[in-house]
Amino acid sequence: MRIGVVGIGGRMGRLLAEEVVAGGFTLSGGTERAGSGQAVPDGATAYPDVPALAAASDVVVDFTHADVVAGHAALLAAANTAWVLGTTGLSAADDAAVQRAAQSIAVVQSPNFGPGITLLLALAERLGAALPATEYDAEIIEMHHRQKVDAPSGTAVGLGRAVAQGRGVRLEDVMDSGRDGHTGPRLPGAIGFAALRGGQVVGEHTVLFAAGSEHIALTHRAFDRRMFATGAVRAAAWAASKPPGLYTMADVMGVS
Ligand code: NAD
Repeated sequence: MRIGVVGIGGRMGRLLAEEVVAGGFTLSGGTERAGSGQAVPDGATAYPDVPALAAASDVVVDFTHADVVAGHAALLAAANTAWVLGTTGLSAADDAAVQRAAQSIAVVQSPNFGPGITLLLALAERLGAALPATEYDAEIIEMHHRQKVDAPSGTAVGLGRAVAQGRGVRLEDVMDSGRDGHTGPRLPGAIGFAALRGGQVVGEHTVLFAAGSEHIALTHRAFDRRMFATGAVRAAAWAASKPPGLYTMADVMGVS
């Protein structure tokens, strides 16, 4: 199986290239943005653009930047090449482009390809369904390294979406992020977000349900971002034989 990596010179791109080889798959190569200052790793084939990479790959793995995701969606659908998408910070228009692509190719999209968070997402949905929103205030707290450009993290949004799904509401209707100044009291049923940035924290996420007489908190800490790459390569191997559709890491792990 041939796996290609867009943005192969990025933090995740480099780890993905290593994990493709470590997993026993063929690294078809990668692309890197002109002027990014990030080099294609030694020994990997550099392709000039996504169509050229897609033509040489059975699956393309994408941990890049939200600005380029909609373009990648159209290009990979046109090339009929499966897509593993880890890029976060997507807009509603980007999400729509991903869904369109999934009508003609297999797409595995996850805000976090680690196995622990995949299970935490399933647990967040169960807790959201079991704990009434009238009594239990749901808050998502996350911390990441100082270089991270989007907030709340894609994983935090995914956890909020899981709680919302458990509660039978749309996250967009109850999301409360970036509180500042005179916010007024907490809105009933809101799902709150707080984002901390600093140091080199790979990723910490807590889902908190706070009632008057008890708190339940589930915390996941990632110590090495390599596990995201290992999970994404596992997803790539899984996606290669799947019919068109939008899948998650829970589908790959069989816990959905
Ligand atoms: P990075 O900045 O180190 O790498 C980004 C790569 O994308 C580079 O190769 C860059 O050249 C390329 N790129 C292409 N177009 C770009 C554009 N318009 N602007 C900026 N870069 C562009 O970032 P990273 O730490 O490797 O993270 C990349 C993405 O992966 C982010 O969205 C991050 O949140 C996400 N991520 C997801 C998971 C997951 O499990 N889903 C885990 C870690 C990171």
